[in-house]
This record gives sequence, structure tokens and C-alpha cells, in this order.
Amino acid sequence: ADGTSLLTVENLGVAYGSIEALHDVSLTVGRGEIVTLIGANGAGKTTTLKTIVGLLKPKRGRVVFNGESITARPTHEIVARGIALAPEGRGIFPDLTVLENLELGAYRQPDRKQFRRDLDHVCTLFPRVRERLRQRAGTLSGGEQQMVAIGRALMSRPTLLLLDEPSLGLAPLVTQAIFDALGELNREGLTILLVEQNAHLALSCSSRGYVLETGRVLLTGSAAELLQDARVREAYLGQ
Ligand code: ATP
Repeated sequence: ADGTSLLTVENLGVAYGSIEALHDVSLTVGRGEIVTLIGANGAGKTTTLKTIVGLLKPKRGRVVFNGESITARPTHEIVARGIALAPEGRGIFPDLTVLENLELGAYRQPDRKQFRRDLDHVCTLFPRVRERLRQRAGTLSGGEQQMVAIGRALMSRPTLLLLDEPSLGLAPLVTQAIFDALGELNREGLTILLVEQNAHLALSCSSRGYVLETGRVLLTGSAAELLQDARVREAYLGQ
């Protein structure tokens, strides 16, 4: 991290019809950081990520990326600027092969050689994916599907990766493989904003975190501070 902000979310307010999901959410992600968003079910974590990538339009507030406002820009434009989302539930296409899913992530890439390099990068990160490129994605294990979802996001060559619940439903060893890969990507320079139920695991690989509660930021601090915080320990770490 070099201390400059890559993403700034300011006073975001988002509603689904008359249901206000985000009241006032502000956060920053610095270049090179891994930052975690934790919070109970329904706190607004997914809503925050969807708003950042333009899938939801905020009623109030701004999203600034690389010094420019991207608030409510079309999603394809936001992806082109360098943000990719690996969504909750993975969102892969079960009837397409693994390779076809990865190609979809690279739909803007006209250079076949660059595509090959990016594909090789994903396959080096996740050797399982390389073995299964021709397999129908719907027949993969949950962990393999998560690897494909992250791989597809990487194929758009993001500078900021948003991840929604990458460990959901996965066994501990598979979860560890996913988090090892995230650490490797971060060392290569990728900035990551992570939403996780597994607060201990997520904070352990993060520099900072935010705790959301009913659409507001309740707490923020360094990962070490949050891991020590009595409220965090009781509500999210089961301690
Ligand atoms: P989870 O961990 O359960 O995914 P979350 O923190 O990601 O929770 P969100 O999915 O952002 O929470 O939801 C925030 C609030 O918005 C919740 O009260 C939820 O019921 C509501 N909400 C989310 N999606 C919709 C929708 N499509 N229509 C109406 N309300 C919605």
C-alpha cells in the first residue's frame, strides 16, 4: 500500500423501493490494500459492492475510483476502468465450460496473446482450473466454482477486485486455498475489497476493516484493532 486512495465511497444511501438498505456508508480502499467489510446478514455488504460496480444506483453519495467519480456509471464502463466483482453465489454460467466462463470475463480483450497470458495466470493461481477448462462449470465442486468466479473477474484485468463471500459453503482447506491465492494476487499488486462472514480469516489477511450494521458503518480500524475489539469479538468472532 502506498497510502493513496484507490476507491472512496462517500455517504452512500441506497434503497430497494421504500426499503432503505444503506443509510450512510463511507469507506476508502488504498492502493495495494486488502480491506474487509464485515457485518451481520442484511447489514448492507452486498448492496455496497453492487453499488460500487454500478448494478444499483444510489439515492445519495458518491463513488470515486482513481480520482474520478464513477457514481451510477454503467457497469461495463466501471469494469473497463478496472473494477471487477466476483459475486456472492459465484454467478458462473453452469451450462458453459470453465474456459467459456473465463472468456466471458475477457470479452473486452481483443489481443489473443494477452488473453492467453491472462488465462495462464489464472491457471497458475488455481491449478484445478487448468485441469478442468473443458468441463461444464455446473459440474464443478463449490470450491472450484469459486475459483472460476474469481478467475473470470481477473480476466478483465482489474486493479480493484471486489469479492462477495468467497468462503461461503466451502470446506476449510478449500477456503485456505482461495485465501492463499488472494494473498498472492495482493503481493502482485492487486487491491482487494472483501466481504466475508468468516471475519477472523478475512481480517487476518487484511490491513483494515469496516463493520457495517443496518446500513451504516459502526466501526472501522486496522485489522489488528478490530480483531481485539470487544464488540467485534462477541458479534463476529464468537469469542
Ligand atoms: P448477507 O450477508 O445476508 O448477504 P448483506 O450485508 O450483504 O447480507 P444486503 O444483501 O446488502 O446485506 O441487504 C441489505 C438490506 O437490503 C437487507 O435488509 C435486505 O433484505 C435488503 N435487500 C437486499 N436486496 C433486496 C432486494 N432486491 N429487494 C428488497 N430488499 C433487498
